[in-house]
Amino acid sequence: MSVIEKPSVCTLDCPDTCSLTVTVESEKIIKVRGSQALPYTAGVICNKVAQHTPQWVHGPQRVRYPMRRVGPKGSGQFERISWSDALEIVHTRTRQAIEQFGRETVMPLNYAGPHGILSMDSMSLRFFHKLGASQLYRGAMCGGVRREAWVGTYGAIAGLGPEVAAQARLNIVWGNNATVTNLHLVRGITQSRREGGRLVVIDPLRTRIAALADLHLAPLPGTDVLIAFALAHELQRLGAHNAAFIRDHVLGYEEFMARAAEWPVERAAQQSGIRAQDIRQMAQWMIESDPMVIAPGNGLERSRNGGSSIRALLALPALMGRLDTRNGIVLGAGNAFPRTPARLSRPDLLPGPTRTFNILDAGEILADDRVDGAELTTPVRAVFIYNHNPLVVHPDQNRMRRGLEREAIFTCGIEIAMTESMAYCDVVLPAATAYECDDLYAAYGQHWLQRAQAVVPAEGESLPNTEIFRRLASAFGLTDPCFSDTDAQLMDAALNAEDARLAGQQPSTLPLDAATPMRAPDGQPFAPMVNVWPATPSGRIELVSDTLAQRWGEAQRTADFRVFEDEADESLALISPASDARISSTLLGSGGKPHEVPPLLMHPQDARARGLSEGSRVRVFNPIGEVILPLRVTDDVPPGVVSCEKGAWLATGPNGQTISALVSATRRADLAAGACYNDVRVRVSMSAA
Ligand code: SF4
Repeated sequence: MSVIEKPSVCTLDCPDTCSLTVTVESEKIIKVRGSQALPYTAGVICNKVAQHTPQWVHGPQRVRYPMRRVGPKGSGQFERISWSDALEIVHTRTRQAIEQFGRETVMPLNYAGPHGILSMDSMSLRFFHKLGASQLYRGAMCGGVRREAWVGTYGAIAGLGPEVAAQARLNIVWGNNATVTNLHLVRGITQSRREGGRLVVIDPLRTRIAALADLHLAPLPGTDVLIAFALAHELQRLGAHNAAFIRDHVLGYEEFMARAAEWPVERAAQQSGIRAQDIRQMAQWMIESDPMVIAPGNGLERSRNGGSSIRALLALPALMGRLDTRNGIVLGAGNAFPRTPARLSRPDLLPGPTRTFNILDAGEILADDRVDGAELTTPVRAVFIYNHNPLVVHPDQNRMRRGLEREAIFTCGIEIAMTESMAYCDVVLPAATAYECDDLYAAYGQHWLQRAQAVVPAEGESLPNTEIFRRLASAFGLTDPCFSDTDAQLMDAALNAEDARLAGQQPSTLPLDAATPMRAPDGQPFAPMVNVWPATPSGRIELVSDTLAQRWGEAQRTADFRVFEDEADESLALISPASDARISSTLLGSGGKPHEVPPLLMHPQDARARGLSEGSRVRVFNPIGEVILPLRVTDDVPPGVVSCEKGAWLATGPNGQTISALVSATRRADLAAGACYNDVRVRVSMSAA
């Protein structure tokens, strides 16, 4: 039997977007390893993808055929049907809903399962635009707060690429569980440390990268902004502000520093639960270390002070005038690519003005026909769930479940696996994995563009998302020629081939065995203040932003710290870091069986106060949910904080609830109305279950 190796790209929701070599035998993947096509990842991939991909692509969990539900919603009882019957049902039920309630009764409910440009949202958005369906703002789920903070401060430009970490004398990893979620950044940091560079990690949890650090600051969740304020103040006291750079390139210095001055080191340390001497040490190292690289992760955006925390830390290199080819911030990678989203998704197909929902409101929309407590004039009665597992990942899991249970709402699922969300759908259409599709990959954590082709035939009757939405468009009688575009035409619509970054290549013909570097106009890697400049209204680095004030309220003109009344009670702060066994709820290794339930981490002091001990089965609860978890007693979390990995499936919990059941859907970050997964108050007691 012939065994061949083919190039591919990892499509999972991870900033690294590794290039892969896939070994195929008899049209099945038998092995996946890293390839050299992408110099940044250079042959190294994470264990979960290396170990579990063959099973993930070819295993029994795959949805291989169109399915129709034959039992109650959630029962998981389905029967196989033909593609033509499935499309007919989807068309008929959706049309009935539109005839009764109007076109906005249709709602896509999708997120970021695959990160290929085509499979994430291309033909699908054309379809929903043409229908005039309700639109969805997805940034609130994750990444939107960070993006708003970055764009509000520096504009939509690329920051430094992650390669700079290797040469840094000081790497600052802030709210970034990098060993699990940013593997190749860790490789660069390791190289830096071998050559005498220092590492500071700021994270409430002693993650693996934090355990390696020269200095680990473990603030209470939501107080990161205070550390940044205290650093700004301390750097000023030590004479480390660069007056000439600030005069020429910074807007709002005085206003920002007035806020920072309210939080000198001692006060900030006390409020955030860390030692004042650690903030002072960090400030000293920032002054001494050149180059200095800051790599913020998604962790700190997930609180009510998330936007302020990111904006305040983004200010630090600007205050020091330390932005060049080696100094600065690893962020904004999405802006490195010459995307042309309007050509790809065709918003011009919209038949008229259409409402846009925040994705976090989906549970309330489905369960109660309301948003923010107000009744919808047009209720949602037809939902398309794709690239998403809302029951596991959305805040307020129990309300989402009540919404998905409603027989009045027709739900079409498009998935590669029979997830717990799919069990609530009326029809499930089988989607191909990335290994069965052609696609383009523009990473969100590095500056290399990649293309991949299918390496194996699609399992059963599964199809790429693009083809599924072509067929849906045909079934709905949508005859615009754009619905006949091939995947190659979609690739060419996704990026501007005239842009110098593509060096004359059509996106659809980019090489498969070599990633294409995205470069600044001078042909060099992006470096803010060297070859790209703040794309803000003022052309400066904006520490105060009228744009953010207009978008998110006057209180967001500059970073600020807000204390919330619920933090004064005796409850604990729950955070939910990523797991190294899966990507969010995408199951690769584990997370779907009862024995694979992730533990709750609690500080010994908090365990003693509650009469709990290692291995106790505990009840973690608040007014909206209750989760049963095994307890791990550890000082990896500070007193007052508990931690449990996100993404485990409902089957891991004896009562069918996971930590998303404890996360409020109405508590929002200060920017982007973002989800507050790391700003959750819970109580913990011994479980009787
Ligand atoms: S999940 Fe991330 S680290 Fe793992 S193979 Fe994919 S891109 Fe690479």
